[in-house]
Amino acid sequence: MKAARFDYQRPATVAAAVAALGGDHGAKPVAGGQSLGPMLNLRLARPSCLVDVAKIPELRRVEERADGVLYGAAITHAEFEDGAVPDPTPGFLARVAHGIAYRAVRNRGTVGGSLVHADPAADWPTTLTALGARVVLAGPQGTRELALEDFLLGAFSTALEEGEIVTGVFVPRCSAGARFGYRKSCRKVGEFAEAMCAVLADDGRGVHRLVIGATEGRHIVVTEAKAVLADPSRLDARLAAAGFDAEPATLRLHRKVIREAIAQIAIDALNSESLPA
Ligand SMILES: Cc1cc2nc3c(=O)[nH]c(=O)nc-3n(C[C@H](O)[C@H](O)[C@H](O)COP(=O)(O)OP(=O)(O)OC[C@H]3O[C@@H](n4cnc5c(N)ncnc54)[C@H](O)[C@@H]3O)c2cc1C
Repeated sequence: MKAARFDYQRPATVAAAVAALGGDHGAKPVAGGQSLGPMLNLRLARPSCLVDVAKIPELRRVEERADGVLYGAAITHAEFEDGAVPDPTPGFLARVAHGIAYRAVRNRGTVGGSLVHADPAADWPTTLTALGARVVLAGPQGTRELALEDFLLGAFSTALEEGEIVTGVFVPRCSAGARFGYRKSCRKVGEFAEAMCAVLADDGRGVHRLVIGATEGRHIVVTEAKAVLADPSRLDARLAAAGFDAEPATLRLHRKVIREAIAQIAIDALNSESLPA
C-alpha cells in the first residue's frame, strides 16, 4: 500500500516547527521515518502534513554538562553506536545502540523518534529510563522537562501534548564504577523484543534502578533496587509490589531476562576489575 497524500515542511527552527504543528492540527513531526514510514504506508497514520524535524540545528546539538549530557532529539542511533557523541556512562549507550535493528535503521532512526513512538519493546525507552533520563519538550506554551518514566504513559502513548515536540533528552552522568545490565529476548536478530530488562547499579551515586520493558503497558520501574540486585530471590515480591503481571509463559520469559540482566552486572564488575589501571 502507499501512503495517503500529505504536505511536507522542513522548518529551520524549533519555534517554526511548533508554529507549523500548531497551525495544522493534522500535522505530525517526522524524524528518521523508521517507525512513522511503515505506519504511513499501511495508512495507520494519515497526517495532513509532515513536519520534518531531523535537520533542525537545536535537535542536532549535543551539550556536555558536569552532571550529564543533553542530546538533541534528532541524534541517530548510529551516532551513539559510533561514539560520535559524548557518553556520560561507561560505554552503555553505544552498547545499547548497537543492538537496535540493523545499520540501515540505525543510520536514520533517532533517539527522540524512538521515545515518542513509545514502543514498549524498543531499546531506548527501557534503557534510558533505567539511566534516569529526562525528556525536554517545546510547544505553544513554552518548554518543559519530564522524567522519562513520566513521559512514557504506556504502549505507544506519551505525555506529548498537541503541537509539542521533543527537543532533547538529558542523560545523567554515571560514576566511573557504575555497572549496567541489559538483556532482551528476540525471536530473531533485528526483531523487536518479547521481554527486556535494563539494570543500573551506580554505587558511587547511590542509584540502583531496574526497568522492565516489552510489557503490554507501561514500563515497570523499580527504584531503590539495591536489595533486589544483591539478592534476586527478592524479585518476585518487588515485581508484585510494582504491579507486574502477565500470562505464566510470558512471566517466565521476563523473569529469565531480568535474572540475566542482573547477572550481567556482576560480569560488568569482573570485567572492569580485570582492566589494567
Ligand atoms: C525493520 C525495523 C526494525 C526495528 N527494530 C528496532 C529495534 O530492534 N529496537 C528499537 O528500539 N527500534 C527498532 N526500530 C525502530 C527504530 O528504532 C526507529 O528509528 C524509532 O522507533 C523511531 O525513530 P525515527 O527517528 O525513525 O522516528 P519517526 O519514524 O520519524 O517518528 C516516530 C514517531 O515519533 C514522532 N516524532 C519523531 N521525532 C519527534 C520529535 N522530535 N518530537 C515529537 N515527535 C517526534 C513522529 O511523529 C512519530 O509519531 C525498528 C525499525 C524498523 C523499520
